[in-house]
Amino acid sequence: MDIEKYIRNIADFPKQGIQFKDITPLLANKDASAQCLENLLQLVGGQKIDKVVGIESRGFFFGTLLAQKLNAGFIPIRKPGKLPYTTLKESYQLEYGMDALEIHEDAIKKGDRVLLHDDVLATGGTASAACSLIEKLGGEIVQCNFLIELKGLNGIQKLKKHIVNSLLQY
Ligand code: AMP
Repeated sequence: MDIEKYIRNIADFPKQGIQFKDITPLLANKDASAQCLENLLQLVGGQKIDKVVGIESRGFFFGTLLAQKLNAGFIPIRKPGKLPYTTLKESYQLEYGMDALEIHEDAIKKGDRVLLHDDVLATGGTASAACSLIEKLGGEIVQCNFLIELKGLNGIQKLKKHIVNSLLQY
């Protein structure tokens, strides 16, 4: 099954010049989303994973499903002010200005083998901030796993230290 057919391109969303990769048609189709999950699992291979970390919010969809299939726990990384317990925070550069991500300080134990998952790798700022949070807690990043990589933005450069895999490249 060609899961690419279920990714919808939306021009100029959320702002001018951005081609948004909308995964809602994929999520809405049970066969396409089941196939997508299988393909994402194949990227992981047989590697042992203790925690899957998903980035708010579209990293939560397949992140939780991957965690179930990998017999691992699921950990959310969220925008500031959303997580209720004590957090660790990492700020990162956007095209204009700064943003930040948070993780619960007890979410990952030293030596945990972690799979990071998000829907889209664009400039890599988000995933690289997520990686530093995981590493500050002592997690070992086994793979950064994405549905889509926007090659032109060279996000992989910011994740040089890590193994990066994606299902679809544009
Ligand atoms: P970046 O930090 O530039 O790699 O951006 C990655 C984050 O922004 C991910 O959490 C994506 O969900 C979101 N994102 C960036 N660009 C797009 C896009 N063209 N379509 C959909 N989501 C995007």
